Amino acid sequence: MTNPSVNDIEDEREAIRTPDAPPKAPSHWKQEDWDELKRYIRWLCDQLGLRDWEIILLHETTAEVGEGDAIAYIHPTDGQRRATLRLCSDFREMSPEKQRHSLIHELIHPHHRDATDIIRLTLPRSFGGVAYEVLWENFRQQVELMVDNIATAIAEQYPVPDWPKPKKRKEKKGKKP
Ligand SMILES: [Zn+2]
Repeated sequence: MTNPSVNDIEDEREAIRTPDAPPKAPSHWKQEDWDELKRYIRWLCDQLGLRDWEIILLHETTAEVGEGDAIAYIHPTDGQRRATLRLCSDFREMSPEKQRHSLIHELIHPHHRDATDIIRLTLPRSFGGVAYEVLWENFRQQVELMVDNIATAIAEQYPVPDWPKPKKRKEKKGKKP
């Protein structure tokens, strides 16, 4: 979720130009892990009612993902079944359970996009100023709690990412010490 501002809309336009889940892994990801991440997110989308949504996966530094210690951040595009999903740079190092929870959390957000937009886009015209900011911030916090509670309630019904096992290194033949 995000505060409504011109900057956010500009960011969003920028993100749309980014190719969907680039086939080549970013430098801090192993290619096979990146491929599994894309497969897992697409599978979760299908399970969570986002079959007809396009998710644009971006890799970012932690600071760029969102405020504070955000693990991931999703930004639905106004009027389209499309969203950009950003993951923090150390996402792969987190526990599989934490990865599962944070992805499910983010993939619940698109479901309240249209309801949220009544507050986000329609009310500023009639409220404006501080009254709107207070309303928006309280609404946003409550929606975050709701989404997180739902994610916690359902996460264990889904498998964790099936990361490829690290290849065993061949033991060097040599003299015993
Ligand atoms: Zn959230």
